Amino acid sequence: MAGTEKIETDVAIIGAGAAGIAAGIEARDAGARVIAFEQSAAPGGSAITSGGGCMLVGTPLQEKAGIRDTPDLAFKDWMEWGGPTADAQWARYYIEHTLHDLYHWAERNGVTWVDMKPQEGNSVVRWTRAEQSGYGLMNKLIESFGKKGGTIVANTTISGIKRKGNRVIGLTGTNAATGKKIDVTAKTVLVATGGFNSNLDKVIAARPDLKGERILEGSGRGATGIGHDLIGELGGYFTHMDHIWFYVYATPDYKDPQQRRGLVFRLVPGNIWVNQQGRRFHNEALSGGNSASPALLAQTPRHAWAIMDLAMTAKMEIADPYYRDGDRPVREKIMELLDNSPFIKKADTLEKLALEMKVDKKEFLETVARYNEACEKKLPKEPEFGKPLGASKKFDTAPYYAVQIFPLARKNFGGVKTDIACHVLDKHFEPIPGLFAAGEIAGMAGGHINGKAGLEGTMLGPSLFSGRVAGGWAAHEAGFGKGFVGKPNR
Ligand SMILES: Cc1cc2nc3c(=O)[nH]c(=O)nc-3n(C[C@H](O)[C@H](O)[C@H](O)COP(=O)(O)OP(=O)(O)OC[C@H]3O[C@@H](n4cnc5c(N)ncnc54)[C@H](O)[C@@H]3O)c2cc1C
Repeated sequence: MAGTEKIETDVAIIGAGAAGIAAGIEARDAGARVIAFEQSAAPGGSAITSGGGCMLVGTPLQEKAGIRDTPDLAFKDWMEWGGPTADAQWARYYIEHTLHDLYHWAERNGVTWVDMKPQEGNSVVRWTRAEQSGYGLMNKLIESFGKKGGTIVANTTISGIKRKGNRVIGLTGTNAATGKKIDVTAKTVLVATGGFNSNLDKVIAARPDLKGERILEGSGRGATGIGHDLIGELGGYFTHMDHIWFYVYATPDYKDPQQRRGLVFRLVPGNIWVNQQGRRFHNEALSGGNSASPALLAQTPRHAWAIMDLAMTAKMEIADPYYRDGDRPVREKIMELLDNSPFIKKADTLEKLALEMKVDKKEFLETVARYNEACEKKLPKEPEFGKPLGASKKFDTAPYYAVQIFPLARKNFGGVKTDIACHVLDKHFEPIPGLFAAGEIAGMAGGHINGKAGLEGTMLGPSLFSGRVAGGWAAHEAGFGKGFVGKPNR
């Protein structure tokens, strides 16, 4: 082929995010030549913008905090929270391997675990954050992959997986920087392209019940689902695709010309959510996908307003690279959003804010007054929905803001079915020779490890872990190493 660069390797990885980089490290450790192809200009995927929190069990950090945790307890929480569609085998496999094969493994690759945070559904605290969140975590792992001799080819979108007979033998794609086509020959191929929640068409195809609703795109920019198409063409079996994890504290990105992307905002202590009738409808402290999203989706119309005063915005963070400098929020850009987005109303009194929002003024003012009264009385919880008031304060510092929030599609809990060695399975549950998948394209691991709800930290953690498993077995099938072995926490 003219203008085509030919490349040869042992293991070819599509996507250099959490799963792709973890897989690369594992395959390099086994001695295989590895190239990870990444469509973006830089590696990291959604993972590099993530909170960097993994659900880890029985760790030194937990021990230091006096928390006694066991794989049995974590498994019980997992299955109760995720429901009957959680994959018990993969959940158990992941949980058992979080201590040695994730916590200590990440440390060996330069990562420092720094703190923990409670999350809904967990009976003990186990959401564990890496230093500098996803940014720090991924930069350390990318650095380690490089030091071990792994190669990342950026700016390169893979658009085809080559086959000879039934066997996968390589890839084709285009390098956007050089304009050249690439033709890759590989002994095994590992798909780690992430989810599809930055592609609204795919979200609606998986959740046709939401057609006509305003749903925001909300994963990393690269999460458009190209990998799903590639595996689909080869006959890979997709399962539990309606299991999409939505968040509600998200507002449209007014800079997006297509008005499809959402911006997730976090860390606004004490903000309250009111519906178009001017009433609160939920305990805002329970902001996870399991209870907050169904609560928002039950409102008519299906949106709400996050109310905050100026003082409350001081800690606001936006989970989008434009609003951050590495792991630090950029305050001026956050103010720019608050002052310019047509989806954010601002007023110097609560009365005027109600008019701007076009909500029922009387109801709204009464709602805020009741909340303010609970704060003034220093109640531990406000009486209506039981929200703890420890981090809350009265609404009393103008200007007041109302941020319009809509459901945002964030994480795919369903994906391509794989076996426990991450071989992609077809509809007969038989492996497609030479083809592996890990991370969010495989519903984080195996197809549907979380079930309907995640305990948090159960996306990044399983993506890294399944990446390692896939990398080990992809290297093995290419003739290197024994496959992934690991050390359970028994
Ligand atoms: C803002 C945010 C915060 C999050 N915080 C947390 C958290 O704290 N804890 C948690 O558990 N989970 C969190 N998640 C979810 C978690 O980050 C993802 O589930 C995880 O990164 C998935 O890993 P992955 O490797 O499968 O995909 P990614 O990390 O998204 O990597 C996939 C990569 O593949 C590339 N790619 C896609 N298609 C192609 C192609 N055709 N050719 C070449 N490259 C391609 C993409 O550009 C991307 O770089 C968060 C997600 C977001 C968006």
